[in-house]
Amino acid sequence: MKRYSAFAVAREALRNHMGWERAWASPEPRRKYDAIIVGAGGHGLATAYYLGRNHGITNVAILEKGWLGGGNTGRNTTIIRSNYLQDASAAIYEKARSLYETLSQDLNYNVMFSPRGVIMLAQTEHEVRGYKRTAQANALQGVTTEFITPARVKELVPIINLDGPRYPVLGGIWQARAGTARHDAVAWGYARACSDMGMHVIQNCEVTGVTSEGGKVTGVNTSRGDIGCDKLGIVVAGHSGQLAGMAGFRLPIESVALQALVSEPIKPCMDCVVMANTVHGYISQSDKGEMVIGGGADGFNNYTQRGSFHHVEETVRALCETFPMIQRLKMLRQWGGIVDMTGDRSPILSKTPLEGCFINGGWGTGGFKAIPGSGWGFAELMARGQSPLCAAFSLDRFKEGRFIDESVAAGVAH
Ligand SMILES: Cc1cc2nc3c(=O)[nH]c(=O)nc-3n(C[C@H](O)[C@H](O)[C@H](O)COP(=O)(O)OP(=O)(O)OC[C@H]3O[C@@H](n4cnc5c(N)ncnc54)[C@H](O)[C@@H]3O)c2cc1C
Repeated sequence: MKRYSAFAVAREALRNHMGWERAWASPEPRRKYDAIIVGAGGHGLATAYYLGRNHGITNVAILEKGWLGGGNTGRNTTIIRSNYLQDASAAIYEKARSLYETLSQDLNYNVMFSPRGVIMLAQTEHEVRGYKRTAQANALQGVTTEFITPARVKELVPIINLDGPRYPVLGGIWQARAGTARHDAVAWGYARACSDMGMHVIQNCEVTGVTSEGGKVTGVNTSRGDIGCDKLGIVVAGHSGQLAGMAGFRLPIESVALQALVSEPIKPCMDCVVMANTVHGYISQSDKGEMVIGGGADGFNNYTQRGSFHHVEETVRALCETFPMIQRLKMLRQWGGIVDMTGDRSPILSKTPLEGCFINGGWGTGGFKAIPGSGWGFAELMARGQSPLCAAFSLDRFKEGRFIDESVAAGVAH
């Protein structure tokens, strides 16, 4: 694979861009691989990448029923932060955030990581107490955050209204090296690096069944024929329950749609990300100038991968008091993705009752930020049978009552 560089850009500019190679190959499936990953979203591709880079396992296929990055990875609002309350969460999200810092260099692909900072607003006394507690926990975990005053919030976000009659801004938790990245570039960058290691990224290949012998996985049935494997990683976000069903076990997961929308592009007016968890809305400005707006998940289980009018109304209404300028914006586009929610709002990175079959899911509304850390840990789990990053997130926790309760801690989990 030819490396991308300033020199390559200059060279191609001089020859009408005729010399660029395809970023990844589109091979026919082999009959058998050492490892198969189902799902070419960020988590699946990152898992494959670190299987190769950290563990030397490159006879790997990543099978995707649609197009790579076409699931939640290409539909999310790209918030990256690691200011979680529980130690196990802070460890994996901070590992991911720190990998994001150098991901463009590691992959030789510009993922546009922008550490512009994230504020989670405290708009009730309860939130003030909660975020002060999180800031203290983060200090112990080595995650750099601080609780800031309303005046500092105003300094960072001049367009904000601090004195809303219902939800005045009482402060916030600020993580300066949190931010955003270009979501589909993350998938594309990992896919290109996997393909460069000789792995097969196979799109339009739906897994329809899991085969096993004597309690051990032997392969998968797909829309492009049966494919054998020694190890299987299921990394399909909102479809985790379906794939687990094919492998013969059940998961404590519900699938719901999560929606987002963008406004028309406007001049730069906000250079960090703001989350208002009490009213349930969050907002940032994309490089194109659109205000990117997200809210809560649908209140009922469903597999509809699209937006709805009631969501636009609810989310925009929630933010109007704190961001009055929104009232004058036209909304341009809305969409939805299917997210997989566990009861404690924490992910599952685990062995399963089927030997050789592993599951990575349950990232719910907040897994984009975790992609590099999740891939790092899950690859270690698949290669070595254990990983310190994943240990707390095993399926056993639901039997043993060892919940990692981020639903209370994080308010919303984006
Ligand atoms: C609107 C919205 C906003 C969000 N905002 C944020 C945010 O700001 N920050 C954040 O951290 N997270 C956010 N998230 C969550 C985040 O997008 C997800 O947690 C993350 O992208 C999950 O990645 P994944 O690789 O596990 O899943 P996906 O990217 O969904 O990949 C799974 C893939 O599996 C494929 N698949 C499914 N079934 C099969 C099958 N049978 N055979 C083959 N392939 C199959 C799917 O087609 C899909 O491409 C948001 C999500 C949404 C929907």
